[in-house]
Amino acid sequence: MRDANPQTIYLKDYTVPEYLIENVELSFILDEEKTRVVSKLTMLKNPLSHSQDSTLILHGEGLELIRVAIDEQPLNETQYQQSNECLNIDSVPQDKTFIVEIGNTINPKANTALEGLYLSSTMLCTQCEAEGFRKITYFLDRPDVMCSFKTTLIGDKDKYPVLLSNGNKIAEGELQNNRHWVAWEDPFKKPCYLFALVAGQLECIEDSFTTMSGRDISLQIFVEQSDIDKCDHAMQSLKNSMRWDEQTYGREYDLDLYMIVAVGHFNMGAMENKGLNVFNTKFVLARPDTATDSDYEHIEGVIGHEYFHNWSGNRITCRDWFQLSLKEGFTVFRDQEFTADQTSKAVKRIEDVKMLRTRQFAEDAGPLSHPIRPDSYIEINNFYTLTVYEKGAEVVRMIQTLVGKTGFRKGSDLYFQRYDGQAVTCDDFVSTMEEANDIDFEQFRRWYSQAGTPVLEIEQEYNQQLKTHSITIRQSCAPTPRQPAKQPLHIPIQLGLLAADGSVADICLDDHAPCKEILIELKEQQQTFVFEKLEERPVVSLLRGFSAPVNVKMQQSLEELAFLLSHDTDTFNRWEAAHKMSSQIIFGLMDDIKQGKDLELNPLLVQSYQTILQQSWDDLSYLSLLLSLPAENYLAGQMEVIDVDAIHKARVFVEQSLAEQLQNQFLELYQRYHKEESGQFDAGTIGRRRIKNICLGYLVKLESTESYQIVEEQFKTAKNMTDQMAALAVITDSANPNKLMCLDSFYQQWKDEALVIDKWFTLQACSSSDDSFNTVQDLTQHPAFELTNPNRVRSLIGAFSQANQLHFHAANGQGYNFLANQIIALNLINPQVASRMVSGLTQWKRFDENRQSLMKKALEKIINTPDISKDVYEIASKSLVPG
Ligand SMILES: [Zn+2]
Repeated sequence: MRDANPQTIYLKDYTVPEYLIENVELSFILDEEKTRVVSKLTMLKNPLSHSQDSTLILHGEGLELIRVAIDEQPLNETQYQQSNECLNIDSVPQDKTFIVEIGNTINPKANTALEGLYLSSTMLCTQCEAEGFRKITYFLDRPDVMCSFKTTLIGDKDKYPVLLSNGNKIAEGELQNNRHWVAWEDPFKKPCYLFALVAGQLECIEDSFTTMSGRDISLQIFVEQSDIDKCDHAMQSLKNSMRWDEQTYGREYDLDLYMIVAVGHFNMGAMENKGLNVFNTKFVLARPDTATDSDYEHIEGVIGHEYFHNWSGNRITCRDWFQLSLKEGFTVFRDQEFTADQTSKAVKRIEDVKMLRTRQFAEDAGPLSHPIRPDSYIEINNFYTLTVYEKGAEVVRMIQTLVGKTGFRKGSDLYFQRYDGQAVTCDDFVSTMEEANDIDFEQFRRWYSQAGTPVLEIEQEYNQQLKTHSITIRQSCAPTPRQPAKQPLHIPIQLGLLAADGSVADICLDDHAPCKEILIELKEQQQTFVFEKLEERPVVSLLRGFSAPVNVKMQQSLEELAFLLSHDTDTFNRWEAAHKMSSQIIFGLMDDIKQGKDLELNPLLVQSYQTILQQSWDDLSYLSLLLSLPAENYLAGQMEVIDVDAIHKARVFVEQSLAEQLQNQFLELYQRYHKEESGQFDAGTIGRRRIKNICLGYLVKLESTESYQIVEEQFKTAKNMTDQMAALAVITDSANPNKLMCLDSFYQQWKDEALVIDKWFTLQACSSSDDSFNTVQDLTQHPAFELTNPNRVRSLIGAFSQANQLHFHAANGQGYNFLANQIIALNLINPQVASRMVSGLTQWKRFDENRQSLMKKALEKIINTPDISKDVYEIASKSLVPG
């Protein structure tokens, strides 16, 4: 609960731990309501600490202490003090190792916050990152205290036939009263946030992997019995990840066993606990009839992410939580590259950039803006942000762009070798890259300390006489909280030039050898680059592959964008041209709406779509992206004052006009690929399903009887979830009279599959139909809805407030009030998830005055709730700070 004054923690206050733990022996007597924990810590004074204090302070929250002993001498109550957050033990030995023995109990069933040890259905499991271990027992709960763990689990044989923890299983046996025990030992030193235990009635699929040095690793995935037929894809993904990390980074797995457990109640996506990953079921379970193509891809990405953490996170971890991006930025970058290699590089890059630009850029421009290495926090759980993860990955990507792939591998080899077994900083990572490549990243380091999204303003001038084309780039960055003035950043810009006939022009810049593509480095506030030997004015393709996380302001006519869409050789910029063109057209229509003009679609967009549709494409997923309009939240991010109604109206008008004018082409493509549907999962079939469903979306915008028939037919006969879901999504968003019938039959069909029912909630929460707010409100009363399950909360309340811009931001404020009430209800149940939900309200400054005042009122209502958690308090109060 909230202290009178929630304490802010600062990076500048970091000091080394006063004590170290060499090893810990834990034992658990497991019980739903009263688990007994005994912990035996071998400790010593840290030789690097300058503190003269002989008090040992251990972290612990919500624990029932039974006993404390030092070197086998039980302490009496005058020798230690307990507070809400700590246990202070007086005068521990300063000049030798000593053993602290602690006994305490915890109540997993009452733990609805899902941090520490908790109950998910009938299974006991843990989540310790960031500071959950202190809810299990007293400990030095900080990532720079690393030690080896030996864990013994004792439990009832029927309730807990499977008993798992980190490392390798070393012994097991039977006990009286139908109980049994298993002992685990993890030989690798680790911080306690990587500790895990799982106990329950679980089934497992097994496989094995032979590493590059020829060691056999046993692989196991544990799930509840009813899910045992949905694990094959996860297992294959794990093997792909292991192979990829060997091939790409030379990293081999270290233990003899790798386990994954899927858990239904989970605050995050997944957790990389050493040797025992705990996953949200959402990122493990998949069967063609229950999971979509994008679920399959996300599962592979998340399995990869957690596996890659074994090196970038576990063997080398963070010195303190301000360094979170050290492990997350690097690991997200690694999983992005992995997915790109497994699927389509172009599509993966575009998808990642779309997410970054709509969601991270908004975070960067809002009241909670922070650098990828934050300098203060109240609750660290609030800093598992898009900035730390996604922008963090972009910063690592820029390092790779600047030093090249070979240089990056040299740097990562040195990093893994030098810091193995240590807890280090972002700066250590950057220094290693510098040293391995003999390069200076002094200025580049500002990406770690400066918040906000830089803006690049571009001016161009062609000189007929000199045959030169100059590009002037000016960088700036708006002030962010506590950072009023920004310094210039070191920005890598990948660039190409196109001649008027669409061919690639040679690039002649200064003393570089002529080339077809060049990396220019912007370091000053303003710099001019002069390209020579150009017989005519070129068309510039700037920031290829989105080589830096910036906003670009460059005058580009629709004709120039259409030209780039036809000729650019860079797949990212080609898509970007289509995206910019449709955005510009939608903004033009919004102006027309404001002025009460009749709307008319610019024929250039139809022509461009026609051209694209006539070409032949190998990568149909990429084609689908070219034919998709910018999302409403992306368009909102481009506006000074967000007008949700105009955005929706203009965008729907474009969709409908395209559908009318291109219906024959859309229908032809739809039928062709629908006929070829094979139910397979290779890139080709996934692409065919994707383009087919894009066409279906356009066709249904016609709201014609024929199009309703097509989509209902697909809904009823679909053999896989991708097709069934695509059809139902389109139906839910249309005026189709059979909508409720379809939603109901879907519910009846899937009511026993929690993850599918999550989708059912989300579809309705995101619908643009007029009745969508009432539907969402009613759904909170649905028997399948529960606030204690984070996936359910995200699928309904999260989806409505974060993905239904039109109805969440209704001018009467009903959406805001609804969200505030849900957050208040959730605050005591699960502070971490509650605080995530506040993000729907944090961007209030971007709206008109009426909405601003309604959103502020909702935030104030949240803050004034009695017993507000510090998680929710931090986000809500920071959102309201003026400035
Ligand atoms: Zn991670």
